[in-house]
Amino acid sequence: MAKIELKHLYKDYEDGKHAVTDFNLTIDHEEFIVLVGPSGCGKSTTLRMIAGLEDITSGEIVIDDCVENHLHPKDRNIAMVFQNYALYPHMSVYDNLAFGLKMKKISKGEIDAKVKEAAKILDIYPLLERKPKELSGGQRQRVALGRAIVREAKVFLMDEPLSNLDAKLRFQTRAEISKLHKRLKATTIYVTHDQTEAMTMATRIVVMKDGLIQQVGTPREIYLKP
Ligand code: ADP
Ligand code: ADP
Repeated sequence: MAKIELKHLYKDYEDGKHAVTDFNLTIDHEEFIVLVGPSGCGKSTTLRMIAGLEDITSGEIVIDDCVENHLHPKDRNIAMVFQNYALYPHMSVYDNLAFGLKMKKISKGEIDAKVKEAAKILDIYPLLERKPKELSGGQRQRVALGRAIVREAKVFLMDEPLSNLDAKLRFQTRAEISKLHKRLKATTIYVTHDQTEAMTMATRIVVMKDGLIQQVGTPREIYLKP
């Protein structure tokens, strides 16, 4: 859990594109924020700035009172899940899960325990020896979630994690992500263009358009107000 303060974030790309303009939001510890809006409105850029994968043109990212602007992505207490899974194809599921921990100088036994615990939580324990190509889409996305879990990050960032799944798996995985959020209590920022996901998962929804925040509110406030 973390308190996240996003203060006047701007992102201008080198070609002059204003991708994000004055993004201001304070996110409380147990929130599940869903960023919605049309393609190109700046959702991914916002997420990538928070993860440290994209330089900020101006503004400040504060997590638990610590200014993170210039921290390397791996020094941020953040885990990111992408839509295309981003698994290492030549490594087993086990090694995919363990990879992020091996750089952290913790013992083999401790890594083993964390990997197996995450695998149990996500019901992928029997798949630990497989390679990503031997998994279904839903299983791959679980491994991607598992990589986020083993990091024990305080903040989860998810960029359209369900968009490559079929309708049934989307439904199942959506419920699982909500359950995980309740269990791990990691503050979550989730990008989607799917209204159902926003309605069912969010504590608050942020609606973006042309790089600007248009509206912030609970699902009820955003979608059900007359
Ligand atoms: P979304 O995630 O909402 O679809 P993005 O954050 O990916 O939107 O993109 C916001 C805007 O910034 C878009 O107009 C996109 O074309 C532009 N953009 C994204 N990445 C780059 C880049 N590397 N260079 C220039 N423009 C970019
Ligand atoms: P889905 O239809 O759910 O996307 P697949 O048809 O790809 O899944 O696979 C069905 C089942 O077979 C899954 O449980 C998957 O783990 C398993 N499977 C797929 N490919 C392989 C493989 N190369 N080796 C072993 N098991 C596999």
